Amino acid sequence: MSQNVVVIGGGPAGLEASRSLRDLGYTPILIEKEPVLGGHLTRWDRLFPDGVEARSFLDPMVADLDGIKYFTDTEVSSINRLKDTWVVKLSNGLSAQVRAILLTTGFDLFKAEKKEEYGYGIYERVITNADLEDWFKSGAGPQFDNVNVIGFVHCVGSRDEKAGNRQCSKVCCVTAVKQACEIKEKFPEATVYCFYMDLRMFGRRYEDLYLKAQKDYGIRFVRGRVSEVSEDLDGHLFVKAEDTLFGKPMKIKMDMLVLMAGMAPSASTQPLARMVNIQTGEDGFFLPQSIIGKPCTSSREGIFFAGAATGPKTLPETLSEAASAALAIDRFLKTPQKR
Ligand SMILES: Cc1cc2nc3c(=O)[nH]c(=O)nc-3n(C[C@H](O)[C@H](O)[C@H](O)COP(=O)(O)OP(=O)(O)OC[C@H]3O[C@@H](n4cnc5c(N)ncnc54)[C@H](O)[C@@H]3O)c2cc1C
Ligand code: SF4
Repeated sequence: MSQNVVVIGGGPAGLEASRSLRDLGYTPILIEKEPVLGGHLTRWDRLFPDGVEARSFLDPMVADLDGIKYFTDTEVSSINRLKDTWVVKLSNGLSAQVRAILLTTGFDLFKAEKKEEYGYGIYERVITNADLEDWFKSGAGPQFDNVNVIGFVHCVGSRDEKAGNRQCSKVCCVTAVKQACEIKEKFPEATVYCFYMDLRMFGRRYEDLYLKAQKDYGIRFVRGRVSEVSEDLDGHLFVKAEDTLFGKPMKIKMDMLVLMAGMAPSASTQPLARMVNIQTGEDGFFLPQSIIGKPCTSSREGIFFAGAATGPKTLPETLSEAASAALAIDRFLKTPQKR
């Protein structure tokens, strides 16, 4: 019994941590609420910075689950403390008694319809970064014609007190630059704008992608916020913004607007935090013992985290944190229990 670990959330973090735990000699029990494993990676087409297919990372992870008990379409009904163990009851009627639980419940995409001024859910030609990934992945393309002028709006629901998300979502600047280049490949004659506050191209090779977007793809970067979006009788969009570098108001007729919806805490965060009595931060994500020194360890014995459950992360950050969480759990389980 004590060699089992429950892992809640079967995205990249949960999959990677489960495989690492298995390799360390444990029997992870992986719980995923959706019908398939893979989390948000199942939705992305090609990954920044190099454009490799998301599938090329996900498929080998999902194919390597020997020694891991996993349940899809399954949620946690209750978690209770019993002496130095946790009793986890599942929605499928099964239960497990373990010393360690790993929370890898990831993030939810910010609901772009909350930013009413952009018209998502009202105007057909306003879509999100995730919708665009769906298109790229399915190869279907837009359901409307004349895609000649396209805009990308950064920081949708991030760095925005009014939207309840003060933090930077970290991945959406580089995702916008990647998607702007991809859309230009599909519509080479199109004019593509990116409206940004600051460009946060922090990762290795991200700056190269940004330079390529300007030099090779002719993407127009405008420093300024979009203030209003409206629609004409033909269904075309009018986008009002201000170029704050030139102090110039702009009104541009567009055929498509892509909102870079940010990473918000998963809806599972608060219910799970209450079940095991741990804290969340002001940003709504799980709060580790120390963001610098112990990013995978919670304030309660035997409860650990990995991946975007503790805040926005790229895929490489998520995967390395998952491996670290497995080592932290191994160290914890090998430490003699105080009686
Ligand atoms: C638009 C966009 C594009 C991106 N593109 C890239 C990219 O190109 N390159 C890159 O490096 N990173 C990219 N990222 C970041 C990447 O998606 C994340 O780093 C990664 O998905 C985090 O993995 P995770 O497992 O922590 O979370 P998730 O992918 O969110 O997975 C969490 C899983 O937990 C499950 N879950 C939640 N609650 C429960 C519960 N109560 N019970 C059971 N299961 C539960 C969910 O269903 C989900 O399957 C992108 C992010 C966004 C927003
Ligand atoms: S990564 Fe860029 S688009 Fe995303 S919230 Fe941060 S500054 Fe805004």
